[in-house]
Amino acid sequence: MQYSIVSADSHINEPPELFNEVPASLRSLAPQLVHTDKGDAWIMAPGAAPRFVSTSAVAGRKKEEYLARPVTYETMRKGSFMPGPHVEDMDIDNIDAGVLYPGIMRYLERCADGPVRLACAHTYNEWMAGFQKHDPKRLVGIATLPQLDDDMGKTTIEALERAAKLGLRGAFLSQKDSGIPLHHPDASRFWAVAEEIGIPISIHIHTNPFQRGWSKDWMDIPGSKELGGSLVLIGMAEHMNTLIWGGVVARHPKLKIVLAEGGIGWIPSVLERMDHVYDVHRHYMNSIVKEKPSETFRKNFYATFQKDVAGIRLRDMMGADRLMWASDYPHTDTTWPESKKVIDETFEGVPEGDKHLMISENAARLYGLQN
Ligand SMILES: [Zn+2]
Repeated sequence: MQYSIVSADSHINEPPELFNEVPASLRSLAPQLVHTDKGDAWIMAPGAAPRFVSTSAVAGRKKEEYLARPVTYETMRKGSFMPGPHVEDMDIDNIDAGVLYPGIMRYLERCADGPVRLACAHTYNEWMAGFQKHDPKRLVGIATLPQLDDDMGKTTIEALERAAKLGLRGAFLSQKDSGIPLHHPDASRFWAVAEEIGIPISIHIHTNPFQRGWSKDWMDIPGSKELGGSLVLIGMAEHMNTLIWGGVVARHPKLKIVLAEGGIGWIPSVLERMDHVYDVHRHYMNSIVKEKPSETFRKNFYATFQKDVAGIRLRDMMGADRLMWASDYPHTDTTWPESKKVIDETFEGVPEGDKHLMISENAARLYGLQN
């Protein structure tokens, strides 16, 4: 089929009954859905505070009305968790294909323990493989993987290998705030396997929030939430630096890394600084990196964005072939159902060739969608 618009970062919400599929011995420790006066919420582990679906399912509501009413599975758009309605919602939004990231399974690290995380990852990935099967030319399933500090990355590898066999076309790496960094020696085997398997590995916003270490009380100080919402990009800059300076990409030159939902406007500035560190500081810092970070970015990285006029204007400083537009359906940042209008406005004046790369071709190429 012809791909005019591909969303490189959309989301689902896990269906209410999903974790009934977790093996019986672990089921009571798996996430449970609860219905409350404030809406539906997931309890990620026994005793944990409820995590409301709220901002994860607002597509179609006016932004002034976000969270004005409790969000439940009854009231959210069915496309959020059912493949048929999901495709219908893509049609409403003129989207030809969507790359599907998890809902609460983005927070897999909050599950009870390592064995539960692995079981939940398998359960989710099998379900997502079925979701993708509904229309593989239009639905691109991304697996979820347990964090790298579980069993020295062994379960991360096991989940990745199984997800690849299931036909999922990318994998999302869950990262515990206090977990090992991506360039830790315990993670090295995982990166070798990821390179060998060849599917893109995604790092998504909120996996390493810069507000880690903040007391929960501090989040209630007026302004803290807006500050977090504005600076989610910071964590992505940290991931990019870790993977490049830590030599992960240098050791595994075929790796494909996707920085998901972090926007793109910051990338040229951070790369310019990284190149400066490379030129001036690498000698006395005994850097293990042997090429300019901006060159590494152009070979191994991709980044997704929704509205990012600054980044679109600076595309030549990163490579237009590295940048992928996304709708973020059905989350609070979503452009649904007006994605085409948003694209027309934010890409105004951009030559058709570059525009097509960013809104369709790059994602189609990366995930093997055939025209
Ligand atoms: Zn996303």
